[in-house]
Amino acid sequence: MGIQEQYRKEAAELLSSGAVKLVIGYGEGTTADRRRPVFIRSAEYVGRLVLDANCVANLSAYLVQEGLLSDGKKVAAFLKPEGIRSMNILAAEAQLDPEQVVILGFDIEAGQATSLSGRNASDFTALIGSLKASGLSPELQKEADRLEHMGSADRFEYWKAQFSKCIKCYACRQVCPMCYCRRCIVDVNQPQWINTSSHTLGNFEWNIIRAFHLAGRCVACGGCDRSCPVNIPLRLINHRMAKEALDTFGHFAGESADQKPVLATFRQDDPETFIL
Ligand code: SF4
Ligand code: SF4
Repeated sequence: MGIQEQYRKEAAELLSSGAVKLVIGYGEGTTADRRRPVFIRSAEYVGRLVLDANCVANLSAYLVQEGLLSDGKKVAAFLKPEGIRSMNILAAEAQLDPEQVVILGFDIEAGQATSLSGRNASDFTALIGSLKASGLSPELQKEADRLEHMGSADRFEYWKAQFSKCIKCYACRQVCPMCYCRRCIVDVNQPQWINTSSHTLGNFEWNIIRAFHLAGRCVACGGCDRSCPVNIPLRLINHRMAKEALDTFGHFAGESADQKPVLATFRQDDPETFIL
């Protein structure tokens, strides 16, 4: 039995036994190579679930939809390792109870979806720990290295040119599991902290503030890159912040559901005097 059939069968069993009230997975998209999220509430519809190498979106963002988990019932979600990491961060930030999520884990290797064993967040701790050393795709890593070796003035020009393309559509925010605030600072207009116009200053404010908010939280799922209509390589800036958190504090975001957020904790023996 292929992985798609295996997971459809498991989803049907979870739903018909009442173990979960909902399965969040992938279905056919608008073109042959696109997948869209599907929300299955009855075993009779599991035939709509698709699992293949085109299932790239991080579905963990749907776990924090308002009210979804407030009845204490469980849901199942198709999650890749990045999705499991972001689910762990959501748990660590008290946005969900990991006990309410049955993880239908999978990965994509050599152009094929492969199953991951374990169904609870804690089953994946070793796997996620082993990913610490892995970085960006070779293509993105090449670009990250190029930026790293630039002088600060050239790097500033690079990001200025990239951010000048931003049209403030906020698709990067909408797709990101880590952007779960009910009211984002950019939507506040009394007072208006961030300029809403799509000009150089406003674009810098928006993109830099978002990068700060994601420091030590980004899991490199690539959702923001894929959703940006003007192709700003957002993952590069968020990856740089993640590298800083790893190199400076040994923090790899989403390793476990009880990992302390890197910017919300400190060590008593921290050499920085401003801490205590
Ligand atoms: S910032 Fe982008 S790559 Fe990082 S978790 Fe959010 S959507 Fe994924
Ligand atoms: S998705 Fe791209 S264009 Fe839209 S707000 Fe984000 S950076 Fe700007």
